[in-house]
Amino acid sequence: MNPETRNEVAPTLRVIPREQHSISRKNISKAALRVLYRLHDAGFAAYLVGGAVRDLLLGGHPKDFDVATNATPDEVKGLFRNCRLIGRRFRLAHVVFGPEIIEVATFRGTGEDGTGGEGDRHIVDGRIVRDNIWGTIEEDAVRRDFRVNALYYDISDFSVRDYVGGMQDLEDKTMRLIGDPDQRYREDPVRMLRAARLAAKLGFTIDKEAQAPFASLGHLLGEAAPARLFDESLKLFLAGHGLKSFKMLEACGLLKFLFPATARALERGDQALRALVEQGLANTDARIAEGKSVTPAFLYAVLLWGEVRDQAHGWIAQGFDINEAWQRAAVHVVGEQCQRVAIPRRFTFTMEEIWSLQPRFEQIHRKRVFRLMSHPRFRAAFDFLLLRAHESDSMRELGEWWAHAQQLPPEMLAAALGGGGVPVHEPTVSATAPARKRRRRRKPGGRGKGDSGGA
Ligand code: ATP
Ligand code: MG
Repeated sequence: MNPETRNEVAPTLRVIPREQHSISRKNISKAALRVLYRLHDAGFAAYLVGGAVRDLLLGGHPKDFDVATNATPDEVKGLFRNCRLIGRRFRLAHVVFGPEIIEVATFRGTGEDGTGGEGDRHIVDGRIVRDNIWGTIEEDAVRRDFRVNALYYDISDFSVRDYVGGMQDLEDKTMRLIGDPDQRYREDPVRMLRAARLAAKLGFTIDKEAQAPFASLGHLLGEAAPARLFDESLKLFLAGHGLKSFKMLEACGLLKFLFPATARALERGDQALRALVEQGLANTDARIAEGKSVTPAFLYAVLLWGEVRDQAHGWIAQGFDINEAWQRAAVHVVGEQCQRVAIPRRFTFTMEEIWSLQPRFEQIHRKRVFRLMSHPRFRAAFDFLLLRAHESDSMRELGEWWAHAQQLPPEMLAAALGGGGVPVHEPTVSATAPARKRRRRRKPGGRGKGDSGGA
């Protein structure tokens, strides 16, 4: 084994008995309990571990429950019919209960004593690219990232097992890494983002030592898989604490490694842009808190807006026609961003639509107004326009005009726009149906008002 990658932390067990901690089985999902009990009854060690234990101890409601055991993936599969084995880099068992999946991981070891059995670990330039050496619970604890993430809830006696000081950190509300920060981030640079995300989510601070390497190692995020960074960005910005995550990333100097264009635009000191981004994130958090749907496309459109707008204006100044200028800017900005964070095409397509509809809000001619209102992306683009109220008074007034226009029955709107009837390309608008109904009928299968996500 490469000596550079050995985690030197010596685990020291502290057992917190049932009566001295707050975890109650009431708050553990039925599915997770079934998995824990079945493993235990078959003679294996079975623990709830990681984020679920941390969140339960903090009084939160975990969104997923992970189980750690000394049973190998094949042994787990032997116990559950509803089980599939996944992952090559990190072999795991998924036990499936309808929509709920319980992830069951076999204790990972260091392999130093040569008892790695059937497993293997592969390290390239200090980075773990495969980790399938089975080990003891102690070894499993020290290879986790943060001390608060290495607590185990034991189903055999309902105690919590703390090997690396996680209980202390929960009390201190501090994120501390297990082992040498430099080494741990080199093994997996995404841990830097996890530090920022979890600190934001939990309202913790990142310990000085865990934060110190960000400046020198942040650039390693450039080598992380863009698809993994997309998943991580969803957890940062679309899990209900997006604004806090964003501020934490900025404060930690990590934003530029994930969203370089956003960091660049904000560094230019554009206060209106900052207000737009923060409002967009806050609206998204509020929607999630209310149980409403959110689309990543809206949020990424918000994050990249400053750069797209500036580039589009640049192309217009060079004589390009408006549509082409916006399209070029969108393609360029999306292309650059996707080298870092692989935003799937279905989202980038919507982002490009939201952006390219923005200049069309300024064209208040009768036919164009109705055409824009019937565009399938109108609602999202309009919500976006409202965020731009911070840009100028005229932009705020434009938002108000469009809000008002949508309240008017079409024939009144047509009259206000200085023309006879409603333009003919609106075939579903009848002269007598109530306005609300008419708007609905124009977007068959579309979502109702305010459901475009983000705003
Ligand atoms: P949340 O689910 O709230 O986002 P989490 O801590 O549960 O946070 P998961 O990605 O679900 O995050 O990971 C579960 C556990 O696996 C973690 O608590 C940690 O113990 C371990 N873990 C996850 N990612 C890493 C990593 N990159 N390096 C080391 N350990 C990790
Ligand atoms: Mg989790």
